[in-house]
Amino acid sequence: MVCIVAEPAFAQKVPGLLTAEGIGVLQLNLGYRCNLACRHCHIGAGPERKEIMSAGTMKQVLDVLKSHPIPLVDITGGSPEMHPDLRELIEECIALGRRVLVRTNGVILLEEPYRSLISFYASKGVEVVVSLPHLDPHVTDRQRGEGVFSRVVEVLKRLNAAGYGQEGSGLVLDLAHNPGGAYMPASQASLESSYKRILRERHAIRFDHLFCLTNMPIGRYREYLKKTDNYAEYMAGLVRAFNPATLDNLMCRTTLSVAWDGTLHDCDFNHILGLPVNHGAPDHISGFDMEKLAHRRIVVGDHCYGCTAGGGSSCRGEIT
Ligand code: SF4
Ligand code: SF4
Repeated sequence: MVCIVAEPAFAQKVPGLLTAEGIGVLQLNLGYRCNLACRHCHIGAGPERKEIMSAGTMKQVLDVLKSHPIPLVDITGGSPEMHPDLRELIEECIALGRRVLVRTNGVILLEEPYRSLISFYASKGVEVVVSLPHLDPHVTDRQRGEGVFSRVVEVLKRLNAAGYGQEGSGLVLDLAHNPGGAYMPASQASLESSYKRILRERHAIRFDHLFCLTNMPIGRYREYLKKTDNYAEYMAGLVRAFNPATLDNLMCRTTLSVAWDGTLHDCDFNHILGLPVNHGAPDHISGFDMEKLAHRRIVVGDHCYGCTAGGGSSCRGEIT
């Protein structure tokens, strides 16, 4: 269900129509299975979820990549590592000359049978984005589960040992931060500098960039806001912080998101809200049409305030 807030509705904030400007990133959501069940998960992922991308849908994705020069494949979930064909997918994308990025909670890379993925990612030059919501272990553990902070620290050390985040290695290691409560993230530049200093001093860990993500008021995070009676105030804060300067760089303008079942969305948030691409563009990978999709009109709702508040937010952090 789409979030409803008091006026003004997001669509009225956008001058003219919001349209895509090409497809530079194909984001693949491989499914909702995850080894964790974080309090703030907008997907509602967890160990009990069964949704997973089929071999047939994955083939359709690869066929699209073979015939269209989309430079970056951004793989997410749930926990994408839990898809049995992840390695094969990555190998095919690399063979096609594409950059590949995997978003991970990190913790799973300490578990069997996933441990060997660290050396696999390194051997393929896969870019890795690890979620580390907060530098305070208690805040991270409260959001993601007991002991998660120390396990993420351990996996970051292993990634560093494999060359990730080390100067000259070409192996990109980025971290993702999101607030632990009903508030927006602080400035990305200042947080990145704190993360770099503290992780280096306390744990000898190095990484490349920090992405600050605003929690989207959907999924399990929306339930949390409702349960703690913070939903209305959180939404009002996002509306107050609306920044028109974010509109040019919204990720939906250059990204197309493919859900586990092959439906196409302007972003992973629209996917979770059950809002496929619309306005005449094909809404399933089986009907992929570059011309129509690259210039599609984007489907917006009031959740889009989450991307346009303050410095803006996308899968790659601040956008202004
Ligand atoms: S936030 Fe990420 S790690 Fe946590 S349950 Fe959701 S998909 Fe899994
Ligand atoms: S939620 Fe964000 S990325 Fe998705 S359509 Fe709205 S503005 Fe674009």
